[in-house]
Amino acid sequence: MCDIILHEAPDTECRTRNEASHKFRLTSGSKLHSPAVFEIPHSELRILHRCTMLVVMQSHAADSEVARVVEVIKGQGLTPHVMPGATRTAIGVTGNTGAVDKALFEVLAGVEEAIRVTKPFKLASREMKRDDTTIPFKQGNIGPKTFTVIAGPCSVENESMILKTAEFLVSKGIKFLRAGAFKPRTSPYAFQGMGVEGLKILSKARERTGIAIVTELMDTEFATAVEDASDIIQIGTRNMQNFSLLKRVGKCRKPVLLKRGMSATLEDWLMAAEYVMAGGNYQVILCERGVRTFSDHSRNTLDLGVIPPVKSLSHLPVFVDPSHGTGKRGYVPAMSLASLAAGADGILIEAHPEPDKAMSDGAQSLDFPGLENLFSRLKELAPAFGRTM
Ligand code: PEP
Ligand code: MN
Repeated sequence: MCDIILHEAPDTECRTRNEASHKFRLTSGSKLHSPAVFEIPHSELRILHRCTMLVVMQSHAADSEVARVVEVIKGQGLTPHVMPGATRTAIGVTGNTGAVDKALFEVLAGVEEAIRVTKPFKLASREMKRDDTTIPFKQGNIGPKTFTVIAGPCSVENESMILKTAEFLVSKGIKFLRAGAFKPRTSPYAFQGMGVEGLKILSKARERTGIAIVTELMDTEFATAVEDASDIIQIGTRNMQNFSLLKRVGKCRKPVLLKRGMSATLEDWLMAAEYVMAGGNYQVILCERGVRTFSDHSRNTLDLGVIPPVKSLSHLPVFVDPSHGTGKRGYVPAMSLASLAAGADGILIEAHPEPDKAMSDGAQSLDFPGLENLFSRLKELAPAFGRTM
């Protein structure tokens, strides 16, 4: 079941749509005493998306009452779109409804409610949910007032390095281990990851140490295997607009860490989150990891400037990946501290027992002393930014 909320500004009423049958359930209308449903033909969906207001008729409304509403809408210089459904008719309104009082329609006979549709498909938006989202884990919460470090190697390389890393992290109070079993590499000749074998190693590390696992899902084929082995499913930058994959993780019961596409605008990124949420998985963590620009002094341009706007538009937790954002381990600590200051809820850091021998991304990986040092500086500074670690 796929729910999409149409919501009304400026208050927080919401309307839920079931995409499969194109039924719209009005769940928390101010006037509705019980959930009401309306249904529109598939062909009308495109129009609905353009509508800035929706006049929902009562289920027993007469044709003459619908006609009267149409007349009044036209009288306001607006365009009505009658969408007859199985249970009731909705009349979409296009044109500038900003200055129109919806009460004008609501007083008409046969009208259930008029709904202002400001931003459709914005489950990720703060208009829809004002308070910051907290994602709970056995190991601790991710979200407001906390700052979470997720650390570990780029790839699962073998069992001993993962167990060693997990034990080190746990001993320092870091509760989330990152490591890719499936690796999206630019070159087909580069190490592609250990695949399912790698997932088994991650599961073993979780079993032994109790650490939470963050690992990447690259294609739908391995969704179940990755979901089982992970506590957070990572979607990489190259897959941010892989819509089949986004829909698939929308069905997962594990939180999703959604990396920003390397050329994605903020809206593209939030719409990708919307895909996951529209599938029913509301536990999305956004992760800025650097974008492509003309700059060539670093691997990517870490866009810390996106954090205040994403925070103002969305209630979802936001992480930063300064490792992929800079590409050089020497730059990682400064950008980690800056991420905390900019309002991020945590960081995703590459760290390796022997970075110079890493099979992928060694140059941007911290060694254990480097990670320990950074973690203690973050811990010291976090309270100044209203966060605990
Ligand atoms: C990674 O986290 O190792 C990774 C491949 O990240 P990205 O998708 O941001 O390149
Ligand atoms: Mn990497």
